Amino acid sequence: MEKICVAVRVRPPASEQSFSGSGAYWKVDDNRVSLLKPLGSPFSGLSYAFDHVFDETCTNAKVYELLTKDIIHAVVEGFNGTAFAYGQTSSGKTFTMNGTEKDPGIIHRAVKDIFDRIQMISDREFLIRISYMEIYNEEINDLFAVENQKLQIHESLERGIFVSGLREEIVNNAEQVLKLIESGEVNRHFGETNINVRSSRSHTIFRMVIESKGKDTNSVDNYFSTDAIRVSVLNLVDLAGSERIAKTGADGVRLKEGKHINKSLMILGNVINKLSDGAKNRGHIPYRDSKLTRILQPALGGNAKTSIICTIAPEEIHIEETKGTLQFASRAN
Ligand code: ADP
Ligand code: MG
Repeated sequence: MEKICVAVRVRPPASEQSFSGSGAYWKVDDNRVSLLKPLGSPFSGLSYAFDHVFDETCTNAKVYELLTKDIIHAVVEGFNGTAFAYGQTSSGKTFTMNGTEKDPGIIHRAVKDIFDRIQMISDREFLIRISYMEIYNEEINDLFAVENQKLQIHESLERGIFVSGLREEIVNNAEQVLKLIESGEVNRHFGETNINVRSSRSHTIFRMVIESKGKDTNSVDNYFSTDAIRVSVLNLVDLAGSERIAKTGADGVRLKEGKHINKSLMILGNVINKLSDGAKNRGHIPYRDSKLTRILQPALGGNAKTSIICTIAPEEIHIEETKGTLQFASRAN
C-alpha cells in the first residue's frame, strides 16, 4: 500500500475587503500552512505540513501536475486510483474538480490525459466506460439517468462490488466524456431550486473503468499470461461540504442532510486513517459503514493510488472550519 498523498489548497479571499480588511489569516511556506493572526487568540501558532500546500495563486494546471497526474498514469497502467476533494462549502472543491473554461479542473485534465496516453499505447486495445453518481442522504442516484434513483450496492464474484442499475456509457474520446458530464450536471440539478445547496449536500463520484487487452491475445502464450486483460478504476470525488451543521437553527431537512454528511465523512476519515497507518496495525477497516466507502472500497487500499486535496477558505470567519479541515488532512497524512 502506498502512502496517501495529501494536499491543502487555500482559495483566494472572496473579496479584497475580507483579506486586507482584517489581515491574512493563513500563510503558505512551501509545504506548510500556518495561522498568522490573531496573535494571542486560541488559534495562534497553528501550523501543519503536508505533501503539498497550494496557495491562492496556484492554478488547476499545477494542482493536476503535482497531485493527480501520477495517479492517472498509473490507472492507464492497470492500477486503481481515487482523488478526493474535501472541504467546507465555498472553499473551492468544485473549482478544483471542475475548474473553469480558462483553467479546466482535475476531471477535465484527467479525461484528456487518459485518452492521450492510450493513443500512445499501440500493443493494447482499450475499452473505456464511465459513470457518474451522487450520494445524497445515503441514497445513490445516477447522474446519467435521472430515473435511476436509490440504487443498491451489490457484490458478486464476477463483478466485485458494484452499484446495481447504474448507467455506464462506453466512450471513445475526451470530448464525448466531457459532453456526457455536462449532461450529468443538468440532471444533478433536476428539480432543485438552488443548484449549490444540493451539490454541497451530496458526494459526487465520477468514475472511469479502463479495460485493456493485449492485441495478440490469440497466441497461447499471451492468453495464459495474467497480463492479458487488465481492468482498472478511477474515481474522482467531489465530497459534500464538511461544515458542521448547528443543531439549533437547522430545519428538519438540513439537519438530516448534515447528520448523513458528518457521519459519512467521519467514516471516510476513519478508513483513510487506517489505510495510512500502514499494513501492520491496521486492523478492521470499516468500509461497510457508509455507501461512499463501500463504493470506493476496491479503489482504496491495496495497490490503489489515492490523493486528497483539502480546500480551505482564508477568511477569519472560517477559522473554526478550516481548523477542522486541516485536522482531517493531518489524520490522512
Ligand atoms: P465548493 O465546491 O467547495 O463549495 P467552489 O468551488 O464552488 O466551492 O468555490 C466557491 C467560490 O470560490 C467559487 O466562486 C469559485 O469560483 C471560487 N474559487 C474557489 N477556489 C478558487 C481558486 N483556487 N481560485 C479562484 N477562485 C476560486
Ligand atoms: Mg461544490
